[in-house]
Amino acid sequence: MKQTAVPTSIHCDHLVEAYEGADLDVARSWQTSREIYEFLQAASQKYGIAFWKPGSGIIHQLVLENYAAPGTLMLGTDSHTPNAGGLGMLAIGVGGADAVDAMAAIPWELKAPRVLGVHLHGSMHAWGSPKDVILALAGKLSVRGGTGYIIEYFGEGVDSLSCTGMATICNMGAEVGATTSVFPYTSSMARYLKATRRADIATAATAQQAGYLSADSQVAADPAKFYDEVVDIDLSTLEPGYNGPFTPDLHTPRSKMADKVAAEGWSDHVSAALIGSCTNSSYQDLSRAASLARQASKHGLQVAKGTEFLVSPGSEQIRATMERDGIQEAFEAIGAKVLANACGPCIGQWNRDEHPAVRNRESNSIVSSFNRNFRARNDGNPNTMNFLTSPEMVLSAALSGRLSFNPLADELKDNKGRSFRLEPPTGDELPAAGYAEGREEYLPLLDHQPAKQIPISPESMRLQPLEAFAPWNGQEFQDTRVLVTVQGKCTTDHISAAGKWLKYKGHLENLARNTLIGA
Ligand code: SF4
Repeated sequence: MKQTAVPTSIHCDHLVEAYEGADLDVARSWQTSREIYEFLQAASQKYGIAFWKPGSGIIHQLVLENYAAPGTLMLGTDSHTPNAGGLGMLAIGVGGADAVDAMAAIPWELKAPRVLGVHLHGSMHAWGSPKDVILALAGKLSVRGGTGYIIEYFGEGVDSLSCTGMATICNMGAEVGATTSVFPYTSSMARYLKATRRADIATAATAQQAGYLSADSQVAADPAKFYDEVVDIDLSTLEPGYNGPFTPDLHTPRSKMADKVAAEGWSDHVSAALIGSCTNSSYQDLSRAASLARQASKHGLQVAKGTEFLVSPGSEQIRATMERDGIQEAFEAIGAKVLANACGPCIGQWNRDEHPAVRNRESNSIVSSFNRNFRARNDGNPNTMNFLTSPEMVLSAALSGRLSFNPLADELKDNKGRSFRLEPPTGDELPAAGYAEGREEYLPLLDHQPAKQIPISPESMRLQPLEAFAPWNGQEFQDTRVLVTVQGKCTTDHISAAGKWLKYKGHLENLARNTLIGA
């Protein structure tokens, strides 16, 4: 084939190590992973694929900004592909072979999932955030509870959510094992499409809203009759939550956190606070967190002593907009380090080796707006406890330096020792002045050259051409041996570890050597 049968894009977000800051980290990533990037770029050129360079952004944020469209179906080779459900589509995370089938026009099959309806009541309160919805749902369902289901959100609460907020909720449906998650088409999706220069898609979707992109009226009237299962969540009373450590379904509501920290013996000191990942790096996330940072600055406060504060923008467009709108300045004023537009610490690309807790493999607590927190995922230290929460709670933890700090009830001390309480965060769903385009070098490369040669060095430790399998003889396998059995929780992190092993994803033999080491 000269070109993929469906529009395809390639994103390089996993191999940028967070260490010295955005530009230096991207430059170093070109030194350490040049052969991978050149291979991906050449493959993109050969098959007419859009190529997004390292530093351009995290795949799911870029897909939401550029490719997601209501009422359509998308496959992506990453578990958090369902993020695009925030734009009213079915986006499903698959393995590479499934994606290749779709790219080669081979029909893609899936056992028909059941449908879990989540009825959202009320509307989001001042300290509330979309992240709280999925953290609470993960606490209810556990990491397996959504397996075999599509999660469909409905009810009047949907209308109080922004498009990027709905993407946050759909993104983390992966943590309950759901096939995907989806919202009905809403006016906030239309606003987001217009803001991201796709007014034509908004117009087309709005025309189909009642007929095809919303649940039928009978469903709202009697949900139990139409969904295989229904869960109710009241946004008006939903507390911010912390999920962790070591699993994304261990949920603690904010008001119970201080007791839980004491009872479990978790380290109350927060050694690092991280905002970013595909789950929470939208303009709304960053602008709400920045409103808290500005309050702290007014009181002469910076992040707590001994707490590192790191921010990863989701895309170049977000980064440029946050720089233009003073959000970056607000973060840096309290001591933040802004990292590259990439996954960074979320995928274990976090050079934290100089930190004593990592060097000595000590127990320590971090809070993040990420979606996963399995052992050793972030900094390689199996004793680092990552608590997943909203960007607003991450910011308040960065200021207080304590897991037990509850910004809804507790006070901070200003630089003169006077007590003050943080006002609830405020922020904009979308940038009032529109999104800035960012640096041209991060625009996607679209340069179809069917005759292009794809370089793979025979000595490469990181790339290996896949040899054709012998044709199937039509028989089932017989007398195969079970090489490994795994007990208990076994996630993709246990099957194929993140961090230093990521670099072998393009080399089947070397990749195979680390399979299941996490289990
Ligand atoms: Fe999202 Fe983290 Fe996966 Fe990157 S590594 S796609 S930020 S979950």
